[in-house]
Amino acid sequence: MKFSWDLRIERAGELIKKQPALSDLLSFYQQLARFQKSVFENLDSVVDHDIAVLLPSFPELVKVVRSSGSSQLKLAAESLAQASPDEQLVLLESVWQHQADCSEVAPEHLFFAKALLQPYAEYLAIAEITTLEGSPPICPFCGSRPQVAVLRPEGDGGKKSLICSLCSTEWAFRRLKCPNCGEENKDKLPVFVAEGLDYIRVDACDTCHTYIKLVDMTKEGRAVPVVDELATVSLNLWAQEKQYQKFGPNLFGL
Ligand SMILES: [Zn+2]
Ligand SMILES: [Zn+2]
Repeated sequence: MKFSWDLRIERAGELIKKQPALSDLLSFYQQLARFQKSVFENLDSVVDHDIAVLLPSFPELVKVVRSSGSSQLKLAAESLAQASPDEQLVLLESVWQHQADCSEVAPEHLFFAKALLQPYAEYLAIAEITTLEGSPPICPFCGSRPQVAVLRPEGDGGKKSLICSLCSTEWAFRRLKCPNCGEENKDKLPVFVAEGLDYIRVDACDTCHTYIKLVDMTKEGRAVPVVDELATVSLNLWAQEKQYQKFGPNLFGL
């Protein structure tokens, strides 16, 4: 695993100190990551990896949300806590089967399904070796959209890859290409860097008006892309104002 759960939890702690304004979001994420770590570790101790294996973890997730989720998520937690195991299973299955487009699932329910499915998908993805042809825009393992792009040091420059929003699989991707529409003309692919935050940029596309954030690890080697991506919501707002849509939302639907 490239970014262990412990590394994510630790990085969230570092970012809380750097960005006190985001401490609610990041400490909530930290608790979630601890919960997800326990789901992940639990999968090692069971033989059957059917998706129903996640159901016993539902009450624990409800507990985490009750203690530090937003008021909207708390409401959803109450209704899901009342739901039967069958209904909970239907929710998990519908998200699992339609990763690329979950528009039919209510956003606040999507959060619960993804919080449970992320460690599950990541566990299954590790066992699988995926061979890659070209630069696929969606995850070659589970078919979800990428949450973030990353540039890792290689030779004089950097090697770009995308990280899956569900199973955290990382796959190589061409540096100058829009993952949504395939645009490769560099004049149509503007790059925006925020002041004082030079290691994260917004890679946008003027053809389809989407964007993805890129975490440049050649500039900040301590970054944990999925966590640093969360800690830069200001960039999302900025991109939204410029009429760019995010290509792959994170766990919080941002
Ligand atoms: Zn995936
Ligand atoms: Zn595009």
